[in-house]
Amino acid sequence: MADYDYDVLVIGAGPGGYVAAIRAAQLGLKTACAEGRATLGGTCLNVGCIPSKAMLHASEYFEAAAGGAMAAMGIKVKPELDLGTMHGQRKDAVKGLTGGIEFLFKKNKVDWLKGYAQFTSNDSVEVAGKTYRAKNIIIATGSSVTPLPGVEVDNDKQIIVDSTGALELAKVPGHMVVIGGGVIGLELGSVWRRLGAKVTVVEFLDQILPGMDGDVRKEANKIFKKQGIEFKLKTKVTKADVKGKKAVLTLESAAGGDAETLEADVVLVSIGRRPNTDGLGLDKAGLAVNQRGQIETDHDFATQVPGIWAIGDVVPGPMLAHKAEDEGIACAENIAGLTGIVNHDVIPSVVYTWPEIAGVGLTEEAAKEKGEVKVGKFPMLANSRAKTNHEPDGFVKVIADAKTDRVLGVWCIASVAGTMIAQAAQAMEFGATSEDIAYTCHAHPTHSEAIKEAAMAVTGKPIHV
Ligand code: FAD
Ligand code: NAD
Repeated sequence: MADYDYDVLVIGAGPGGYVAAIRAAQLGLKTACAEGRATLGGTCLNVGCIPSKAMLHASEYFEAAAGGAMAAMGIKVKPELDLGTMHGQRKDAVKGLTGGIEFLFKKNKVDWLKGYAQFTSNDSVEVAGKTYRAKNIIIATGSSVTPLPGVEVDNDKQIIVDSTGALELAKVPGHMVVIGGGVIGLELGSVWRRLGAKVTVVEFLDQILPGMDGDVRKEANKIFKKQGIEFKLKTKVTKADVKGKKAVLTLESAAGGDAETLEADVVLVSIGRRPNTDGLGLDKAGLAVNQRGQIETDHDFATQVPGIWAIGDVVPGPMLAHKAEDEGIACAENIAGLTGIVNHDVIPSVVYTWPEIAGVGLTEEAAKEKGEVKVGKFPMLANSRAKTNHEPDGFVKVIADAKTDRVLGVWCIASVAGTMIAQAAQAMEFGATSEDIAYTCHAHPTHSEAIKEAAMAVTGKPIHV
């Protein structure tokens, strides 16, 4: 290795970076990972997937007790909210899991270079005043909140916040306005609605959850409305003024027109995330970003500069932790001379609301653009387990190629859709037809039987509806 400090130096210790570093070390490569945050795990473990799920899970229990779901099963309770303890268990989850990554780094002999890395050339970076040379450098710097001009986030004041601030609110807001009806807005909006806030979602487009299947978007909107969330679709926020302890938002129709105002105790800005490349010194490495600020790679995760690779939220594709992790493994394996592949056509996505919303593969709209399809649908109301559990909302939809019957996409709205979607992803990874799923024995009574029935419905023969 002569004058190289490392075989592999990873920049960023989120799910993309830390997983790439561990796999590289497991493959016998001398590995370091630079991370400027005080704890490892990136957005996902510190301020993303994990703390949001801690609050979603706890608030789901609170609502089940307060909102009557338990009473329907003969359990009468009057819950009292102890928000401090709820936040405490969120922080415990984060502490435990981020500490776990530090342990894994030590176990696998990955050096943590503490500080923010900056390229000094195409094979060197500087971290905390020291320069390191590496044969391979993986950029896994992730993403940050997209700012909205005229709506300035100040998480400390807890009036206009981003997702990080919305996880930390010290009291339940009277009225929370969420700007952006995407994944973050609906998940964190759900948390605070369950705990007692009135929630209004302002969405620029004509429907929430862009990118998801059209039927799913419509049904989700209906369910959230029934839960009490108010939607202002085709609407944009043009500015926000903080007046005392409140924010006054100016809203306009997306197409332009008369302005109206809306008062909020807390405003959550959740209009998307953008790749982190500022301050990385990409020019010193001979790299540039595309029009969306992302670093382009080939199928192997190699950039146009030999020896520099990129993965996760900083490259094109869905901004999801499991996508970043799989890219991390594949990238490290490619560096080690193995064949690392990620099938980007089969990346499941889940919205962890109640019920959960999950999908994998093509939407019906996208599948129809490619050719003739057959679609099978099955309502959760007709699934014995969901019905028994008092979880009637939602459906499963299987989209298959009309000629070959190969499954092109599966979409679910169901209490445990996030767990159900794994079997659809695995089936698609193996090139399954709808008939393969329909003739696979599913345990009874489970929510997953709805996937089998939706697959049976592709040929018009479900049993229970
Ligand atoms: P990140 O996790 O963003 O990590 C990048 C790391 O790089 C950061 O720690 C950063 O400090 C570090 N870094 C940046 N620049 C430098 C530098 N120059 N030097 C050193 N270090 C640097 N996804 C899911 O799949 N499921 C979910 O349930 C989910 N929930 C989410 C909830 C919220 C509120 C948010 C905000 C996101 C959520 N996501 C979820 C998305 C998920 O967090 C990201 O897709 C994932 O973290 C991306 O991983 P990454 O490794 O690419 O980047
Ligand atoms: P998003 O892209 O999911 O949703 C943003 C929404 O804001 C869209 O509906 C968009 O039309 C709307 N919007 C954009 N500009 C607007 C404006 N000016 N006014 C009103 N609405 C506007 O983004 P997000 O919810 O911020 O999440 C960011 C990323 O984090 C996503 O890519 C997501 O994949 C990831 N994430 C994933 C999970 C999960 O997997 N469960 C959870 C949270 C976040």
